[in-house]
Amino acid sequence: MRKQIAAANWKMNCTLPEATRLIDGLVNEDIPVTGAREVVLAVPFPYLMLAAERTAKKQGFRIAAQNCYDRPSGAFTGEVSAPMLASVGVDYIIIGHSERREIFGEAPALLAAKTDACLEAGLDAIFCCGEPLEIRESGTQNAYVADQLTKSLFHLRAEQLGDIVIAYEPIWAIGTGKTASAAQAQEMQAYIRSVLAGQYGAAVAGQVTILYGGSVKASNAAEIFSQPDVDGGLVGGASLNLSEFTAIIKSLK
Ligand code: PEP
Repeated sequence: MRKQIAAANWKMNCTLPEATRLIDGLVNEDIPVTGAREVVLAVPFPYLMLAAERTAKKQGFRIAAQNCYDRPSGAFTGEVSAPMLASVGVDYIIIGHSERREIFGEAPALLAAKTDACLEAGLDAIFCCGEPLEIRESGTQNAYVADQLTKSLFHLRAEQLGDIVIAYEPIWAIGTGKTASAAQAQEMQAYIRSVLAGQYGAAVAGQVTILYGGSVKASNAAEIFSQPDVDGGLVGGASLNLSEFTAIIKSLK
């Protein structure tokens, strides 16, 4: 089902007292998250259970992990599996964030395996794609993003697409303060939907939630989210500020 999502990606930020304060702050805000709207909190692993417990009674709130390993269990010191995440109340796993691709060298085949692991554990994936600056400047961003989708998602069956949220995050706009214009986000996200339609048909593609990510803040969220193919946002820096993120939630269609 196509949703409207405000997803907070905390990345590697917050100590336990800070995390508790931020989660409780959100819980205490009077923000109606109704209908097809969701608020997703992608907090660091140590705070997942806390976030799940504290938001359990909040309508429309969901919890995401920022990563997982592609195997269910075993001798993989330091890794966390999708079934473990499911068992502590997680709903979504972010897969393929550009920081994981660039800093940790995660390649398309691994991201395909992680997506499979996520879905097999009964969780939904927030699959990130997006081009670096040099690709945008060369005008080849459509082919670049289509290739990311093809290599990591197109082995899925059509019925599995219902468990995938796509986040388009141009790398040049992440954490830089440089946001894609609403028109640039719309153009790429309509293109992503057309690529999905080519593989899975227009009916399936029309139901996929596609988020924009890259320096979304209270002051630009409403304009970006108002675009027809933008179904909300994946928000990094601004999600660590209670009033900013609350305003972003209120900007959902
Ligand atoms: C992100 O990390 O997914 C992100 C979009 O970060 P920021 O909002 O800080 O650009």
